[in-house]
Amino acid sequence: MKIASVLARLGLIVLWFPLLLKAQSPAFDSQPSFKDGPYVFYEGATAIARWITEEGLTVDTLEAGQPMTACPGFSVAFDPSWVQPGAGFTPDSRTAFRKVERIAAVSDIHGQYGLLVTLLKAHGIIDADSNWSFGRGHLVVLGDIFDRGDEVTELLWFVYKLEQQAEKTGGKVHYLLGNHEVMALKGDLRYVHKKYRYTMARMGMSYDQLFGKDTFLGRWLRSRPVAISINRTAFVHAGLSRQLLEMGLTFGAINDLFREQILDQPEDSILADPYLAYLYSENGPVWYRGYFEDDFTRGQAQWILNTINKRHLVVGHTSFSEIVSLFNNRIIGIDSSIKLGNQGEILLIEKNKFYRGTLNGEKIRLN
Ligand code: CA
Repeated sequence: MKIASVLARLGLIVLWFPLLLKAQSPAFDSQPSFKDGPYVFYEGATAIARWITEEGLTVDTLEAGQPMTACPGFSVAFDPSWVQPGAGFTPDSRTAFRKVERIAAVSDIHGQYGLLVTLLKAHGIIDADSNWSFGRGHLVVLGDIFDRGDEVTELLWFVYKLEQQAEKTGGKVHYLLGNHEVMALKGDLRYVHKKYRYTMARMGMSYDQLFGKDTFLGRWLRSRPVAISINRTAFVHAGLSRQLLEMGLTFGAINDLFREQILDQPEDSILADPYLAYLYSENGPVWYRGYFEDDFTRGQAQWILNTINKRHLVVGHTSFSEIVSLFNNRIIGIDSSIKLGNQGEILLIEKNKFYRGTLNGEKIRLN
């Protein structure tokens, strides 16, 4: 009797299954509905903005000196006045910043625009309207805005906006390259959200072409560093291994090598050079995970800090459920799994004290 009843229920499920699929199918039948962009391309004396709306691909061409106007479908943080034909970015040659009173650092955002906005608002780094309110403070975005999530373009324009606003109040935004920035610029699509495959299809371009050397965001990304320090704390997406430091590369040299000899070079030319091959490898600064292995010791951490002449090193890349501290804040891991879309923390440094900043605005002292 029971078995018959179970079978009858199974039969119902089997019968209903195709109907359920059919009820959900319109989303797959019709064109996907999303907005993405703008992507700004430079061609000679013109700048061409291309973006996707529900109607499809939209294009606006700007001649030199002609102001761009806001259009429906643009990312909310995007300001058309930024776009001037021929604009470029000069990389900041400074790698050490001093006398900074307040520092915040967040990492591995992976397309989770809403979570970043919530964290920054909760800790007064932006105001209720999402504008910079951190004064002379420095915000470090420690790599991996790209991939996994579906609000990457929004995040890029938003971080660019904050960078512009911070400069005006004597503050600073440092957006450092993570392995996923390097992957995007090199056309590695293993982790790209499906949405961007539709963008590529509609624009008739590959993902690396959307961020090519002739694009606004591509030029901006190519001016970003890999390693910097603020006060007595160094920042790098994944980590600095002992082997890397034994090569004698300064932060400036690491930044220049990525910019000039890795981001736009074919893999075979990178792998042919031992220095470049190491920087690009799984032990390089945007991939290394050695600090979080069981056999990594306090002495090894101290050797690294002594070599770079810093007291603390902040990294992302290796995911935890919250910000973690090794050996009394010598090494701090800040990838707090924002990528999962429902959690995340921001590191706050004030008067040489370190805090985990939570989504609801709590500050928890790190030791
Ligand atoms: Ca990473």
